[in-house]
Amino acid sequence: MTKILAITNQKGGVGKTTTSVNLAASLTASGKRVLLVDLDPQANATMGSGTNKQTVKTTVYQILLGESAIQATRITGTRGKYDLIPANRDLAGAEVEMVDLPQREARLKTALEAIEQEYDYILIDCPPALNLLTLNGLCAAQAVMIPMQCEYYALEGLSDLVNTIKRVRHNFNPKLRIEGLLRTMFDPRNILAQQVSDQLQKHFGDKVYRTVIPRNIRLAEAPGFGVPVLYHDGQSKGAQAYLELAKEILDAEHL
Ligand code: ATP
Ligand code: MG
Repeated sequence: MTKILAITNQKGGVGKTTTSVNLAASLTASGKRVLLVDLDPQANATMGSGTNKQTVKTTVYQILLGESAIQATRITGTRGKYDLIPANRDLAGAEVEMVDLPQREARLKTALEAIEQEYDYILIDCPPALNLLTLNGLCAAQAVMIPMQCEYYALEGLSDLVNTIKRVRHNFNPKLRIEGLLRTMFDPRNILAQQVSDQLQKHFGDKVYRTVIPRNIRLAEAPGFGVPVLYHDGQSKGAQAYLELAKEILDAEHL
């Protein structure tokens, strides 16, 4: 069965896109069939997968508005070897344009139904907001992955997100659950990061992935080359951490 994961946190710059791109590449390298959906007008996942957002013609925007078929929009075999539904800045307008459309929160879900059986994993990179785009991601997904930095305000933001997930579950998507919380850009020498990490484990228990993503310059460099870090520096700590995360996720499926 296809697993559809929304990678979400309304806080900006916490590693959603880095996780989407690099987990997509790592799951693909583990032999899984993976589709990455870029649901952010910033289109960082599109660029980070080697597709130019300036020149791409059809994107997730046309899919959401019902103007293009998902098959015609998908880019097969990106430089990360997974498939991609790209985005560009047009998507910023989608929010307003979708408001009067029927089933506005379920448009991505409905579109994905046409191709989901072709994949083992579909990852959705959400924008840093709890808006209609993110709602489409949460309605299409079975589970949410929450990347977070272990900082002072992180836990506060987390309770807003958990409440949103509860509301979405209640109103639209009864099966939606939290798949896991991922500690990103982690620096074990930072005492505050350790404290927040401890609190996170206390509150969320085994919902916190064992794998921790360290701060690693190679992860930040790779998008500039339009490739996941695995194809920029496969031996780097960042590449190894995302391979480890893929393994943790795949191992959990066999339990
Ligand atoms: P936004 O909310 O704007 O979509 P985001 O949550 O998708 O942001 P990213 O774009 O993945 O976050 O990361 C923010 C910045 O931090 C980027 O410049 C990225 O390259 C860098 N970054 C992410 N993870 C790491 C890491 N583990 N080590 C070093 N740099 C990282
Ligand atoms: Mg992002």
